[in-house]
Amino acid sequence: MTWWKCSNCGYVFEAEKPPEKCPNCGEKCTFYDVTCYTPECGCKGYDPKLVGRPTNKESKL
Ligand SMILES: [Zn+2]
Repeated sequence: MTWWKCSNCGYVFEAEKPPEKCPNCGEKCTFYDVTCYTPECGCKGYDPKLVGRPTNKESKL
């Protein structure tokens, strides 16, 4: 399973594939893969650093 983050509302969820619409905000958003591929780091499946990273919309600063 892969962890996805909605670029619109920031909702993080686990799914095999990103859905067409976000289950939280209901918009057709871009979903970022925030899965942690480093089992040694001890996080719960998604990488907090990736989740905390600003989305494209906010990252222009
Ligand atoms: Zn959303």
